Amino acid sequence: MPFKRNWLKPGAVGPDHKKGLYQDLKNEIKKVREQGAPPTRDSSTFSSRYLCDLCNVSFQIKDLRQCVLCGRWACEDCWTPDLYVCNSCQGIIRLYRMKGSD
Ligand SMILES: [Zn+2]
Ligand SMILES: [Zn+2]
Repeated sequence: MPFKRNWLKPGAVGPDHKKGLYQDLKNEIKKVREQGAPPTRDSSTFSSRYLCDLCNVSFQIKDLRQCVLCGRWACEDCWTPDLYVCNSCQGIIRLYRMKGSD
């Protein structure tokens, strides 16, 4: 007798799954700054420049982005645009993806 298992509805995985992943990551990743907290001001200059939390080079605020996971401010070189996280968190996400995809 054919028995169709339809408890795995299409759409049950996807956004929810992704949200779960990010929730796990948020537990895993140590938050360095609160969301919305400003970057560190570069005290060696009188102009308004701020330090990248990863490479410690100073940039204008418009060139820095805040990571949604750890809250670090990252410059373009320290940023992974396709994941919208800093390079540090990107490494952790890669490990997670490897773990989850066996
Ligand atoms: Zn940087
Ligand atoms: Zn990060």
